Amino acid sequence: MNDITYKVDVEKLFQHVLSIEGVKHHIVDPQKLNETADYISSEFKKYGLKTNEQTFKVEGTDMVFRNIEGYMGDASKPEILVTSHYDTGDNSPGANDSGSAVAAMLEVARILASRNFSGNVRFISFTLEELGPTFEQRDRNKALELGIVDENHRYTSYHTQKMFKKFNSSVILGLTKGQPIVDVWQKAFEVVKDNLTDSEKEYLAYIIKIRSHITRTSSVGKLGLVGSDYWVKKALEVDKKIKGVINLVTIGYSTKRKNTQFLPPLMSPLLLPSYKIKARKKIGDFIAVVSDKNSKELGKIFCKNCKNEGIKLPYLWARIPFNFEKIAKWLYDMIRSDHSPFWKENIPALMITDTANFRSPYHHTKADTIDKLDFDFIKKVTQVTIATILDLS
Ligand SMILES: [Zn+2]
Repeated sequence: MNDITYKVDVEKLFQHVLSIEGVKHHIVDPQKLNETADYISSEFKKYGLKTNEQTFKVEGTDMVFRNIEGYMGDASKPEILVTSHYDTGDNSPGANDSGSAVAAMLEVARILASRNFSGNVRFISFTLEELGPTFEQRDRNKALELGIVDENHRYTSYHTQKMFKKFNSSVILGLTKGQPIVDVWQKAFEVVKDNLTDSEKEYLAYIIKIRSHITRTSSVGKLGLVGSDYWVKKALEVDKKIKGVINLVTIGYSTKRKNTQFLPPLMSPLLLPSYKIKARKKIGDFIAVVSDKNSKELGKIFCKNCKNEGIKLPYLWARIPFNFEKIAKWLYDMIRSDHSPFWKENIPALMITDTANFRSPYHHTKADTIDKLDFDFIKKVTQVTIATILDLS
């Protein structure tokens, strides 16, 4: 192992999550969202990085959204990007999703900046990875108007909670079957329709109707991934040269307990390259490395570094031999984060994740708090990320 990776400080990782834990959502807590952007930017400055802030507006709200960047190195070389997102859903403190990733990204930046690093690296923390504001605001207004949620955005009856959970699980199942996304919603609606109250029916019909133009492909940047989609569009305008992207997302939940690991369809450890994982016992203690057709080499380097002496991080490598369009159609779970806008443009990008809801019961809940995180695990992911950047530089 290169000695530089020994410098990863687990206490620093912990302190970052401690600082930024809390709901960071444009409607529920825009102040915390902005304070976190400021925090990331000031950390970059502290390490001596140059910083940049990309601001933009989104239809349906007056708020200004911010992607935060720090960069260093030789600008004549193609860039290596290390990315994370700092926003959260409307009810989650987001310690793991994606405080863990922000912490790792900052620690990579600190360590590389402390050395005479000759590569060219840009760190970006995106906003609005979670639900896009255009629909979210309209959904919330409609639900409130119909009285199916209260001012605190809680369902006003058990019936509604139960029916909408059923609707959502039908959607999740439907997304794995390759149909157009609007058909998936429509079919899920048919499943619950006969048991809905008039208000519930009106609400679901409304949210499907306003999304009727969305396809699997165009969902990127619309339903979510708004900040990263904006960033990629701007990068294309200036013909930015990107060598590869390491997108860190929810990298802090690891457990030694049996039967804790579930996986999306076709992502079986029996079919994929892996290292030190306990597939039969379904133990959720590995990192998942997800690559598309263009990022196979990148995935190979990341996985190689997982095996480094002194790190030995178990991994499952979801080495997908397809490009974005096919993945969006058949493996929708694999496009759920900020690497997707890059995949869409054939830019090599990895998703590095603990598999989120396929392992953690706390994902996207109020219980996504710092006490659940395994910082020794995050440390290893941080070390592998540094080693990978050094290999690429
Ligand atoms: Zn999330």
